[in-house]
Amino acid sequence: PRIANQIAAGEVVDRPASVVKEALENSLDAGARRIDIDIEAGGSQLIRVRDDGLGIGRDDLTLALERHATSKISTIEDLEAVATLGFRGEALASIASVSRMTLTSNASDSVSDGCCAVAEGRDMSVTLRPAPHPRGTSLEVRDLFYNTPARRKFLRTEKTEFGHIDEVVRRQALSRSDVSFTLRHNNKVVRSLPAADDDGLLLRRLSGVCGEAFMAQCVSIEREAGALMLQGWVGLPTFSRSQADLQYFFVNGRVIRDKLVSHAIKQAYRDVLFHGRHPAYVLFLSLPPARVDVNVHPTKHEVRFRDGREVHSFLFSTLHRALADIRP
Ligand code: ADP
Ligand code: MG
Repeated sequence: PRIANQIAAGEVVDRPASVVKEALENSLDAGARRIDIDIEAGGSQLIRVRDDGLGIGRDDLTLALERHATSKISTIEDLEAVATLGFRGEALASIASVSRMTLTSNASDSVSDGCCAVAEGRDMSVTLRPAPHPRGTSLEVRDLFYNTPARRKFLRTEKTEFGHIDEVVRRQALSRSDVSFTLRHNNKVVRSLPAADDDGLLLRRLSGVCGEAFMAQCVSIEREAGALMLQGWVGLPTFSRSQADLQYFFVNGRVIRDKLVSHAIKQAYRDVLFHGRHPAYVLFLSLPPARVDVNVHPTKHEVRFRDGREVHSFLFSTLHRALADIRP
């Protein structure tokens, strides 16, 4: 099983940031209101993600570490309309096979009910021991890729790897402003993002993630047409960045990269402002889950729209209108 898991790990876990991504998705799926992330040495030494979600009961803890043990899908219909973020049931098993991983959790209100699970050895058998923990879950991943030297060799500098982790956190923090996030690197707080439950705090979250310069040079967008709804912020032409790193597009809360989407946005910028090089945006598209397929790739950054043309023209016309309004 370890070998099979290591092969699967190649698909799911290619660097520390992918561990953080999977962990955050699990925490959010579990209804966490607060997530604390601790990183050491760019994630190669330690990744710890602690949440206050529902937790995992002692009896389910072993199951959580087994491949394809997902508690999130029980029927084909579920797969058709995936509402939770994780659904493949292989992340934890994969991570466990390429690191020293412990999963500590508690599904009850009494701290002493906490339990810690480790999967070890050739057969990845799971050992449980009591471990005090408040309701919620802590995933601890040490020495990532210690047993897959080829993969470990591909890790970049601490700074680069941490940059990828920060990016993953920023994306989730944008999509879930109702959840508090703290990110520490080598014991120093890098981001502290309190939950936002009103508009003022939502803007603070936006500024905490995108920076003051973007805040001062963006316009907000909100439009609904039929089953499609777009909400968010787009940068003014005065807001220019050397890199194309402020482009966030969410479909039903999930961050995606999609040619059709970036084409529509670029096209609108070009049409109205005569430049479409590095538009900055934070946009949230909502549509009925049945009209978008998210089960395209294990890392889940891709989607397939049932009606791509409609989405394209909706995005284009919405941005076109918003940008034309503010044209200098
Ligand atoms: P998936 O998320 O695709 O189901 P994972 O391997 O990521 O698969 O997780 C396996 C299972 O472990 C989940 O289905 C869930 O039941 C449980 N789990 C993992 N992380 C958490 C968490 N932070 N809080 C509660 N349950 C969790
Ligand atoms: Mg998962």
